[in-house]
Amino acid sequence: STSVISAYRKRRDHNAVEKASPRPIELRSDEVLDGVTGLIGNTPLVRINSLSNALGVEILGKAEYLNPGGSVKDRVALEMIENAEREGLLHPYTGSRIFEGTSGSTGISIATIARARGYDATIVLPDDVSLEKVKALEVLGADVERVRPASIVDKKQNLAREYALDFTSGKTPAGALVNGNGNGNGHALVDEDEESLSRPRGYFADQFENRCNFAAHFTGTGPEIWRQTNGEVAAFVAGAGTGGTIAGTGQFLKSMADDVLVALADPDGSGLYNKVKHGVMYDHKESEGTRRRHQVDTVVEGIGINRLTKNIELALPVIDDAFRITDAEAVSMARFLVQRDGLFLGSSSAVNLVACVKLVRKLGWNNGEKVVTVLCDSGARHYSKFWNDTYLSKAGIPIDVGIVQDLLTQP
Ligand code: PMP
Repeated sequence: STSVISAYRKRRDHNAVEKASPRPIELRSDEVLDGVTGLIGNTPLVRINSLSNALGVEILGKAEYLNPGGSVKDRVALEMIENAEREGLLHPYTGSRIFEGTSGSTGISIATIARARGYDATIVLPDDVSLEKVKALEVLGADVERVRPASIVDKKQNLAREYALDFTSGKTPAGALVNGNGNGNGHALVDEDEESLSRPRGYFADQFENRCNFAAHFTGTGPEIWRQTNGEVAAFVAGAGTGGTIAGTGQFLKSMADDVLVALADPDGSGLYNKVKHGVMYDHKESEGTRRRHQVDTVVEGIGINRLTKNIELALPVIDDAFRITDAEAVSMARFLVQRDGLFLGSSSAVNLVACVKLVRKLGWNNGEKVVTVLCDSGARHYSKFWNDTYLSKAGIPIDVGIVQDLLTQP
């Protein structure tokens, strides 16, 4: 085998002599990232050529689906976990467990980082999220609990909190759920004896109320967009699930230039549109039943909410406008983007891009204005619902790229 290797080396050396560049290669050790968390953030901004060319503006997508956990929520999970570590609420490789209620993406992000840092994770999610997300969580070794009915208020969030409580009290009956530091940075689960107090074993991340969610975008996503657009961003458009993205990014961009327009992309069935437009979550005139009022009834996953949370409260003051997006518009936009741009995106990304088009058309922009949005996750997380034509046809949702053509061209 030595002779094989040396023969190979000889051949390679020969090629190297022939093709060698006279320029020395600059060696850069800073190009090696430290583990999986090193891959989080600093995502590229990509021009959506089809929409930009059709409208005469720059529609720019922050490619969050390139994060290692596959979505924008990696940033939030990392910030929440690192903050909990700094506060002494989580200790690696001591059986510390992270609890969270999530539509899937945050759970995958938490489970990813948990593996890398020596934690266990219990993830509570609705039973109607696409199967790909459940599979990913299983692969990552998270304990998964699916709840139904899926989206009623926040059953998943309440259950994650309850489990978190049980986790502590199961071992020590005196266990109590205590707010981490009084600043809404998640919750430590501590036992009342002193030794345990110094070594909490459980942490309820609580992304809806946790300020680290906001902070991840205020210190990460926002500054990155500012840098990547040379400070020339005219508008930022995003949907809201917890509200962290639009709150943190929106607040940062407005702090740099108060004329940056921040617009909400809201899927059908979400109450946020009404909140922004009319000051109330629900349109009571529609006399919807309680169940329907609380359920965000859409094939779009990850955005839309019908209650006010800490991160939504942080978002509301910076939201200038809101657009309501139908499932038909979202699924059609997603197909349009695959056909024209080769971009295979998830449902919330498609909703965001429909809202970008509506905003640009409403304002009559056509002069190269930079409109930035978030490509939250990939279509690969949505094969079983949003990208499943049979499922959509059974649900009565039309797929028609003509809908997008109309959005781009009709007066
Ligand atoms: N898109 C996807 C796929 C998501 O999972 C989420 C988070 N629930 C969002 C968008 C919305 O982000 P945020 O929670 O920051 O409002």
